[in-house]
Amino acid sequence: MRFRLGVKELIEVLNLINGEFVATEECLENLNPATSKQTSVIPRSTASDVDAAVIAAKRAFPAWAVLSYEERADWLDKIADALEAKSEEIAALESMDTGKPISLARDVDAARSVANFRFFAEQVRELEVERFEMEDASNHVIMQPVGVAGLITPWNLPLYLLSWKIAPAIAMGNTVVAKPSELTPLTADLLARTLVDIRLPAGVVNIVHGFGHEAGQALTEHPDTRIISFTGGTATGKIVASTAAPMFKKLSLELGGKNSTIVFADADMEKTVSGVARAGLLNQGQVCLCGSRILVESSIYDQFLADLCEHIEAMKLGDPSDEDTELGSLVSKEHRSKVESFIQIAKDEGGVICTGGKRPDFEDGAFLEPTVISGLDINSTCSTEEIFGPVVVVHPFDTEEQAVAIANGVEYGLAASVWTTDLEKGRRVSEALDTGMVWVNTWLHRDLRTPFGGTKASGVGREGGRWSLSFYSETQNICIKR
Ligand code: NAP
Repeated sequence: MRFRLGVKELIEVLNLINGEFVATEECLENLNPATSKQTSVIPRSTASDVDAAVIAAKRAFPAWAVLSYEERADWLDKIADALEAKSEEIAALESMDTGKPISLARDVDAARSVANFRFFAEQVRELEVERFEMEDASNHVIMQPVGVAGLITPWNLPLYLLSWKIAPAIAMGNTVVAKPSELTPLTADLLARTLVDIRLPAGVVNIVHGFGHEAGQALTEHPDTRIISFTGGTATGKIVASTAAPMFKKLSLELGGKNSTIVFADADMEKTVSGVARAGLLNQGQVCLCGSRILVESSIYDQFLADLCEHIEAMKLGDPSDEDTELGSLVSKEHRSKVESFIQIAKDEGGVICTGGKRPDFEDGAFLEPTVISGLDINSTCSTEEIFGPVVVVHPFDTEEQAVAIANGVEYGLAASVWTTDLEKGRRVSEALDTGMVWVNTWLHRDLRTPFGGTKASGVGREGGRWSLSFYSETQNICIKR
């Protein structure tokens, strides 16, 4: 819905509760980070708004849970079709809300949001009851819906991550209440309008907007949300875990990362330089998987660093709506200040800014030059803490063992990438890494059937493929004696 407020046309975002759009008493402003102009007003949901959404989801659960996999898969396909018809709108809203380049929003965010619904429709259609025969009895293992799922998502890949949770949750027969980041509500709102248009049964998907410490916290602590799936920072993940775990909720935590990119001297240099730059800077470095800690074998270190800086300096930073733009704005000026504070710390700790480090000339938005830092100690702040911006640090290493030890020497364990033409070495190094995912000679190359998630402070559990289906269900064994 659009309305005029003052002289500007603003989008009015409302909560979706029980199939209806509902306003809250208080609202929040939402800005386009690339222009600093307000684009929308969004609900500031309270615990009572969340309660209304959970009640609606609980009421919708019995009728949704008894549908067959096939019937629910048909609904997921219907959602995918309706979203696909709006791909351009999804890309435009996502780019406006996050500051990311329109080409990225189209190729990654819009495409993947549609693919998530189609993929999980296919997955549940293929689900079969497992049977274990005994001499005198049969065991049937079935996956039962759990109830109401609370889904909490961050701002970096808004609809991509929201659909990654909603699709498997409802495919398995649960109903949901989702709380997107208050910084990026627009594509969640588009999804809400789409679900109402296609007449998804009321209450199956409810969306409440607002602050994490208010609406998100209320959702996590609500006694009737039996599943909590959270994607966000490690500090927030600790709060979510400490609330949900004592209530014995099913809990999935997809948290932060400080991911190493390991470059061996035998790597194909041309492909590696562009691959490593992409891994470090996609979405302005605001992807949990970004390889922001680049470890380079000493014999090629100087040349690699020079080539990497040259490649990055040639990337086009600018207006996110321009088709040629490769790097857009950060998500907000507050976030840019946080990223800049890391650059200052790096300087204070003796780092050398090889390229970037400054705001570009166009000042309206939250832009920051892509930044490469060398000369830091391997245990320095910027080498060990997640910055979540367009900043990478580069370090030399001498041996395979040293590279593995450095990569494993952080509190996080989300992902890594290894670059070498020796595939046996690639496999050996990967197996020695304490991370949930490793890519060899590529990065963010995703097959949705594979497990996604991290070790250590990067989270608990896995999502993706059958891991998502298992998380969003209760496995029940029925033993029938003949
Ligand atoms: P965040 O601050 O932790 O927020 C994530 C979500 O949690 C937001 O919707 C937030 O709402 C909400 N929230 C905040 N406090 C809460 C509370 N007490 N209870 C329940 N929910 C609460 O993270 P972010 O800054 O949006 O996203 C960046 C982080 O996400 C990075 O660390 C990144 O690595 C991580 N991430 C991880 C993955 C992964 O799959 N592992 C994927 C993407 C991003 P507000 O927006 O209102 O604070």
